[in-house]
Amino acid sequence: MRAVDIIAKKRDGQALNKQEIYWFIREYTCGNVADYQASALAMAIYFQGMTDRETAHLTAAMRDSGETVDLSVFGGKTADKHSTGGVGDKTTLIVAPIVATLGGKVAKMSGRGLGHTGGTVDKLEAIPGYKTELTREQFINQVNDIGIAVIGQSGNLAPADKKLYALRDVTATVNSIPLIASSIMSKKLAAGTDTIVLDVKVGSGAFMKTEAEAHELARKMVDIGYNCGKKVSALITNMDVPLGFNIGNALEVKEAVEVLSGNGAADLTEICIELAANMLSLCNDWEISFSRERVKEVIKNGFALEKFREWISAQGGDISVLDNTDEFCPALYSAEFISGADGYISFMDAEKLGLASMILGAGRAKKEDKIDNSAGIVLFRKTGDYVKKGEKIATMYSSVVCDFSSAEKMISEAITVSMESPQAQKLILKTVTR
Ligand code: URA
Repeated sequence: MRAVDIIAKKRDGQALNKQEIYWFIREYTCGNVADYQASALAMAIYFQGMTDRETAHLTAAMRDSGETVDLSVFGGKTADKHSTGGVGDKTTLIVAPIVATLGGKVAKMSGRGLGHTGGTVDKLEAIPGYKTELTREQFINQVNDIGIAVIGQSGNLAPADKKLYALRDVTATVNSIPLIASSIMSKKLAAGTDTIVLDVKVGSGAFMKTEAEAHELARKMVDIGYNCGKKVSALITNMDVPLGFNIGNALEVKEAVEVLSGNGAADLTEICIELAANMLSLCNDWEISFSRERVKEVIKNGFALEKFREWISAQGGDISVLDNTDEFCPALYSAEFISGADGYISFMDAEKLGLASMILGAGRAKKEDKIDNSAGIVLFRKTGDYVKKGEKIATMYSSVVCDFSSAEKMISEAITVSMESPQAQKLILKTVTR
């Protein structure tokens, strides 16, 4: 086989077969197919798309390009969630201990943030002492003992995706439904979990800008998982506005504690209840309404918060910071973002707020960048709220940036204040199942 023939076939709009896809991915992973050829194929896929069958083969080829994790010791009870990436998305910190409290086994590998979106591993590392690396034996033992362990992506899981994703990032080919679906599902399948609930974001802060695109992505991922014997469902959720009020690593840990204590932001709490209820419904075979009630119960009685503390402590984290979150990781500098006019906040560009937070030091522009755990933004007003000229909309925090003008400019571009009250938007738009 020759890479050039496979590229030409896709360029001309024909479907690739299993042998061609497996050959290309194998040869690319071991370096026999050059980056420029993989970029050309990614661009051909971007324009020509892929059938469901091709997407399934691409997913399986990338899953099989490296190690796969065997979690069968947990008897089919492992549950995982995955978000397609958002701003202020600290749901794993909340959902994982809820699910573990109610009998699910959360053996999870999470990623780091890049660009405007945050990553769970970075948020956890804001807690002093938290170890994101465990040996395989420690990982399995911890899940056996307390039902939960969350580590960084380790080992050699789906190396083809790692290479291809880095290439897509610099060749403007990230935003392709078959490429995103196969990228996410290859890693999820390699990680070995039995139940997967996907949170597919749609809106200004997400890869998918319309509900129809998000639905197509969700459907493809649910089908791939189902055809590989997994229990999968997907929620399509609004990312036109950041989740909760806090953006930034320590700030988001703080907000997760608030939700687990029963006093969290309404939107964040709602989405966490729904994600956890869906995971438990699939993994415990529960009716969704029963599952939802159980989730609310363990938030109310404090069991989920206790599980969170147990988990953080088991991975070496200092849980005293969770008791007094007001003093957790204070920033050296702060500045207020003030409304320049009277009116309603009619739009918030979540992506730009994520970028503003990155400028303050909370995220990385490049993989090697160091993160300031104290940096970020706390919102006091969100879409639909009325503000008066001179009123505070947000506070910016940083320990590495003391000139806030660039972040301030980005926030002012992100927030539209107008005299018309915007229509209320639903947070959870749809659930996609088989
Ligand atoms: N997240 C992934 O892991 N891959 C993509 O292609 C997009 C988001």
